[in-house]
Amino acid sequence: MFICPRIEIDINKVKHNTKVLVDLCKKHHIDIAGVTKVFCAIPKVANTMVEGGVKYLADSRIENLVKLAELNIPKLLLRLPMISQVHEVVKYADISLNSELSTIEELSKEAIKLNKVHEIILMVDLGDLREGVWVDDVNSIVKEILKLKGIKLKGIGTNLTCYGGVLPNKENLGQLAGIADEIKNEFNIELDIISGGNSSSLYIIEKNEIPDKINNLRLGESIVLGRETAYGNSIENTYQDAFKLAAEIIELKVKPSIPIGEIGMDAFGNKPTFEDKGNRKRAILAVGRQDVNPDNLIPINEKIEIIGASSDHLIIDVTDSEKEYKVGDEIKFNLEYGALLQLTTSEYIHKQIINSN
Ligand SMILES: *Cc1c(COP(=O)(O)O)cnc(C)c1O
Repeated sequence: MFICPRIEIDINKVKHNTKVLVDLCKKHHIDIAGVTKVFCAIPKVANTMVEGGVKYLADSRIENLVKLAELNIPKLLLRLPMISQVHEVVKYADISLNSELSTIEELSKEAIKLNKVHEIILMVDLGDLREGVWVDDVNSIVKEILKLKGIKLKGIGTNLTCYGGVLPNKENLGQLAGIADEIKNEFNIELDIISGGNSSSLYIIEKNEIPDKINNLRLGESIVLGRETAYGNSIENTYQDAFKLAAEIIELKVKPSIPIGEIGMDAFGNKPTFEDKGNRKRAILAVGRQDVNPDNLIPINEKIEIIGASSDHLIIDVTDSEKEYKVGDEIKFNLEYGALLQLTTSEYIHKQIINSN
């Protein structure tokens, strides 16, 4: 018996997904930065992405890049650096995404101190309204960046479909390509990286509408869950189940579907409502909201229904299941992005690497 609750990570599937996306992007002369934040940069899984052919590893947290220090591949910090962390950023990230001149100036001072050149990608906000400088301000900030010692302007990039849900398309990504041309004309520099976004940009590759200039994407969800994120579609020839949750049954009993007594509040202060389906066979699993939001779990046995959860207990209805469960059995779930993020972060969840080959 394996430890429960646990997340099972099939690195063979992660590698397969990585290769499929690397090959797809290669046809369009696009390199991939493999994004590791959704699985807290577990080094073995990150290394699988490297074996699958990504050119960079990328994470939003410097603590995660520290875990990857041993891996011999350029590392990219995705979240804008904190000034209070510039030392760690210059030490553990080769490249960082930036939008604030004051931060870039601090990175420059630190890079000089550490005798390093820190590379930056200037983020441009094309309308999603998360990070990035406004298009009209690009030239003036580039002019200042080019004066800084210890800093190399490696490229420009954008992030879409995160805060505002704005979809990438040939217009806004064309705008990014145009900015690269403008920088070239104005300052006579060729940028190495034109980074056209995350897993939501894949569908324009499929449509063959990605502007030629775009030569980098930062991919997380599409690699780990085999899903593009503009419309949430599965990507052809990839696995959606490289990561699974296994949780153990600690109680299995037939009970009514409506609680008995006056209804006050549940454990989280909400007033619950119930549908009367008569007596049902219910299982309690030893995993709870402290580990994962149950809305982001997908029971692999389609006859199972999740009916509720408190901090440490997940209640499921197994009445319709053909399989006869017993106490001590494991129930497995496929995961949405949010579940994967939470489960890998929870210290109560055992992380088990498996290899389906
Ligand atoms: C998380 C993140 C990504 C990866 O997004 P996915 O949708 O998982 O591919 C890319 N870029 C930035 C800046 C991010 O924060």
